[in-house]
Amino acid sequence: MVRHVEQIASSRQGPFTCIGCEERLTFKRPVKKRQHFAHKADSRCSGESALHQYAKLLLAAARRITLPTLALREGGIEEIVYRGGEVALDSVRLESPERDFQPDAMAIVDGQRRAIEFKVSHAVDEAKQEKVVRAACPMVEIDLSGLKWRKLDGEELDRQILHDAPRHWVHHPESAEAQIRLDTRVVAERKKRGGRLRWHILERPQDPRP
Ligand SMILES: [Zn+2]
Repeated sequence: MVRHVEQIASSRQGPFTCIGCEERLTFKRPVKKRQHFAHKADSRCSGESALHQYAKLLLAAARRITLPTLALREGGIEEIVYRGGEVALDSVRLESPERDFQPDAMAIVDGQRRAIEFKVSHAVDEAKQEKVVRAACPMVEIDLSGLKWRKLDGEELDRQILHDAPRHWVHHPESAEAQIRLDTRVVAERKKRGGRLRWHILERPQDPRP
């Protein structure tokens, strides 16, 4: 069972274990500071792996997430690859291998796969990105690296992870087709403008000279 420290009322609810490093934690309740968990003095745990683990478990429990819009733009023309927003997830599998890659989470939305990665300290590397492209699997990266997560209460932390923290598409298989549509429109628009320009040069009546 994963709990945010604010849900703890007494150390009698323990023992508590860090979900990142699995070391034993001490529940602290200072008079003028927020209650918190403390690792042992000689611990080397930064808490980052705990945040990473927490984000995955939260996603699996909440089964809702905000996915970002993916749009390609050129010369004032836009093609939408994916219109973002909050989605309900049919299911979430954590760290289950997909062909030759293993995303933090694989979510199914309307029967479609969406790989979800949480960036805490390491972004999706090139090797993983190549594998995701080969598997033709859309992948979103949610960037938690700038989150002041120790200072957030549980509700705000959850909202940041699921909805508000920066997120972007690492790969979307439909963007190749959208790029072709965009290129076609850009060429057509240039032709139209070229046509108008020629008309100006050839047919526009000359201004009478004063
Ligand atoms: Zn730890």
